[in-house]
Amino acid sequence: MNTETGAEAQPLINLLGLSQAKLEAFFAELGEKKFRAIQVMKWIHQLGVCDFDEMSNLSKGLREKLKQRAVIEAPEVIQRWDSADGTRKFLFRVGGGNAIETVYIPDGDRGTLCVSSQVGCSLDCSFCATGKQGFNRDLSAHEIIGQVWQAAKSFGQLDSVNVADRKVTNVVMMGMGEPLLNFDNVVDAMNLMMHDNAYGLSKRRVTLSTSGVVPALDKLADVTDVSLAISLHASNDAIRNELVPINRKYPIAVLLDSAQRYIERMPDNRRKITIEYTLIDQLNDRPEHAHELVQLLKDVPVKINLIPFNPFSLSNYKRVSNNSLRRFQTILIDAGFTTTVRTTRGDDIDAACGQLAGQVNDRTRRAERYKLDAAAMMASNSDVIPVKLVQD
Ligand code: SAH
Ligand code: SF4
Repeated sequence: MNTETGAEAQPLINLLGLSQAKLEAFFAELGEKKFRAIQVMKWIHQLGVCDFDEMSNLSKGLREKLKQRAVIEAPEVIQRWDSADGTRKFLFRVGGGNAIETVYIPDGDRGTLCVSSQVGCSLDCSFCATGKQGFNRDLSAHEIIGQVWQAAKSFGQLDSVNVADRKVTNVVMMGMGEPLLNFDNVVDAMNLMMHDNAYGLSKRRVTLSTSGVVPALDKLADVTDVSLAISLHASNDAIRNELVPINRKYPIAVLLDSAQRYIERMPDNRRKITIEYTLIDQLNDRPEHAHELVQLLKDVPVKINLIPFNPFSLSNYKRVSNNSLRRFQTILIDAGFTTTVRTTRGDDIDAACGQLAGQVNDRTRRAERYKLDAAAMMASNSDVIPVKLVQD
């Protein structure tokens, strides 16, 4: 409240996460022309500018108006780690004592950024460090695209409009959180990733990964055509019910049908669904599981990505052995599936896309529950792998 005039101060709008349509609406409200939206988008996302005074093609009057009404703010980098292999991990402050993580993984001429969509996750998958922390809140669109903005800026990418200089060439929504449970903000952020006047990534280079929120997946093709990854992790419902509890609501057959409908609606319908399968010792890594998976996926256009389970302190699962991993992969390859193995990167900085564990202020108190369980487990089982949390 402004005590002199008695008027409520208007909250400042963060322009970083606004889609083109929302930016245009914002400028219309200021009595400005639509094309201002594109000008400002280029300043923000292509040149990394967050100070209105630097936006030299806007009039002084407009810049002053913008300062009264808006800000351009990305989440603050609390810490950054650089691995010897080029992997870079960021810890971002997102308020309320919470942090999220983002990982950049270079591989030849490709650089993949693994982006978070929520603070924690409500879906409680039994092998996932984020799931064990419980759910705190959705990230806003500016906090999601802000991870890309900060990463690109950290490489100096935003100082150059030359596409060949880009370090972030791919984005996967495989950080903390379930992207389909934060639908609108994730879609706005992904649209900015693909926008020609922002990051200009092709739809093949932006991937949404989901554990299977089927009603939201059914809506996704109405609004976007990004690549799709399904976190399957099991060859039958009994095992998947244990690993991915949302499977009890939307079992494998229902999920695969929905995924198939999604890619069938893509304009280039030769695209494939990526199946993610985290291999856990003795649980889902046996040859019979591989054969069952072959049967399950025989009529679905997929490529398969095997992920060796990454142990962490609140879990008593163990990493698949190298023998079982190779045996599993060979069965899939012999059956004709393109099957890759996700190699561990950034070991020296504890960076692993998909097992990120920023400190989350857990509203569900789940972390405490697990800590008790884990303590009991440690006491009763000396066989537990000694592990450290990503963020400890
Ligand atoms: N919620 C979404 C996206 C985030 S998880 C989803 O589940 O798809 C990203 C990927 O990392 C998922 O495939 C997830 O199953 C995997 N993952 C999570 N914890 C892991 C761990 N401890 N070891 C290996 N992979 C893990
Ligand atoms: Fe959430 Fe994905 Fe982790 Fe499951 S695997 S708890 S859906 S982040």
